Amino acid sequence: MNIVWFKRDLRIADHAALSKAARNGPVFPLYILEPELWQQPDMSPRHYCFLQDCLAELDQSLDALGQKLIIRIGNAVEVLDGIRHQHGIHALWSHQETWNAWTYERDKAVLRWCASHNIPWHEPVQNGVIRRLRQRDGWAARWYSHMKQPVAIPPNRLHRVVDCSDTLPDFPALSLKVDESMDPQKGGRSEGLRLLHGFLHERGKTYTKTMSSPLTAYDSCSRLSAHLAFGTLSIREVFQACENRYAEIRSSNHSEVGTWSRSLRSFSTRLRWHCHFIQKLEDEPAIEFENMHPAYNDLRSSHFNEAYFIAWKSGRTGYPMVDACMRALQATGWLNFRMRAMVMSFASYHLWLHWRKPALHLATLFTDYEPGIHYSQVQMQSGTTGINAIRIYNPIKQGFDHDPEGQFIRRWIPELRDMDASFIHMPWQAPRSRMNGYPMPVVDEKTARKAAADRLYGLRKNNATHKYTAQKILIKHGSRKSGSAGTKGKSRVKNVMQGELPL
Ligand SMILES: Cc1cc2nc3c(=O)[nH]c(=O)nc-3n(C[C@H](O)[C@H](O)[C@H](O)COP(=O)(O)OP(=O)(O)OC[C@H]3O[C@@H](n4cnc5c(N)ncnc54)[C@H](O)[C@@H]3O)c2cc1C
Repeated sequence: MNIVWFKRDLRIADHAALSKAARNGPVFPLYILEPELWQQPDMSPRHYCFLQDCLAELDQSLDALGQKLIIRIGNAVEVLDGIRHQHGIHALWSHQETWNAWTYERDKAVLRWCASHNIPWHEPVQNGVIRRLRQRDGWAARWYSHMKQPVAIPPNRLHRVVDCSDTLPDFPALSLKVDESMDPQKGGRSEGLRLLHGFLHERGKTYTKTMSSPLTAYDSCSRLSAHLAFGTLSIREVFQACENRYAEIRSSNHSEVGTWSRSLRSFSTRLRWHCHFIQKLEDEPAIEFENMHPAYNDLRSSHFNEAYFIAWKSGRTGYPMVDACMRALQATGWLNFRMRAMVMSFASYHLWLHWRKPALHLATLFTDYEPGIHYSQVQMQSGTTGINAIRIYNPIKQGFDHDPEGQFIRRWIPELRDMDASFIHMPWQAPRSRMNGYPMPVVDEKTARKAAADRLYGLRKNNATHKYTAQKILIKHGSRKSGSAGTKGKSRVKNVMQGELPL
């Protein structure tokens, strides 16, 4: 029996582990629902909602091949050992996974178990992230080469091996509390394909121009992130669909070839960033918990203002753009990049909160929670990588720039629905009676921003070893100068959009 262990790859298309295992004998398609994983502080009901949709569709796809998905509930090693006793295991197959610290430890336990029973564990790469990478030179070229390889073809047929499957636990059984106000994003491959097609043929046309405003981003971004995080689509499938669409547009007489081309290029680059960031966690799992640059260790650790944290979480900081974003995120499970960066920057700089608790809170709210991207981005927006330009978002300016009339704010903050346009970004300047219970600002924006900038720049300037350590971090994690075909000749570290500082 070849066990195909589905993890964050809930599809049969471009599934190298399934395709290869099926060539080696009967397949036991397994999903292990691990209750202990669901107790971790970064897991939430919205992830479970999405997962259920994905598993239901995966089951249908496998059933059409002849063998339904088999769900087992429990600890991975115990589940695998149970199958070994019942059926015997020839080999274990699963895609390589770079996820949180808990899954990393679980995988190490599974590896020990495999070794003790002489069971080979084959782990094909699914997204271009490279295990045991020695250094970053040439990484982009390898990524493009992986993305351009033909997708794995699913087997035509699977022999039926087992019928019984456990029933997925309900939310309370996993101690997950359903949030009734939440409008969950739909999971499952058919929804992922629908989003992909809609983005490439219609919604994505103005992507480069409209991705930054939360008014337009919900429609004009691909919204594929949760599908990539759960693997209902492979990143290679999405990359190739984008390349094909790009070629089609370029060879057509399309009236808006320029607009479309820019948007598709920009989207395709972000698919590479997806893996570039996960590679950082793969290379240094500690960044889930610790500052990438140790010079920042004492910066925010001495005091954590719980009242500020509660105000930020509940969308009551008194800064309408921050609060509208936090409330929108609570209700929809998604925010566009710029607004994610702004809310994180506000927590870390203006409120001077250590990033770990805010990061966990956002992880539970993002349906697309992907630890490799998440912790790298959180640290970038908190100024603790040591290699990125310090960027402190002014939420008032972000409001004027990206929601000039205050439509987004009015939608998510009912207290401000009738506020005059002239006060919508600074309601504290309006007569108190117009505030409708909306709070005054928890901190003064300008003072807090300046204090944070002074501390950060001061540390960079005065810490004797800051630059030396930053250079080592840049060599380990920084992106290299590359064309789309990858790095040619001697690579140089590039000051890319991600804001990494040149050596
Ligand atoms: C503090 C913070 C935390 C974040 N946490 C996550 C997370 O947990 N999971 C996650 O998928 N993204 C995360 N992002 C990155 C980004 O905001 C989301 O990928 C994007 O908003 C998802 O929407 P989309 O699929 O419509 O993206 P699109 O703009 O359509 O982009 C397509 C895909 O490219 C990738 N991508 C886009 N932007 C980035 C980026 N800046 N860095 C890395 N990959 C990118 C994603 O896989 C995305 O699905 C985070 C950003 C910040 C600032």
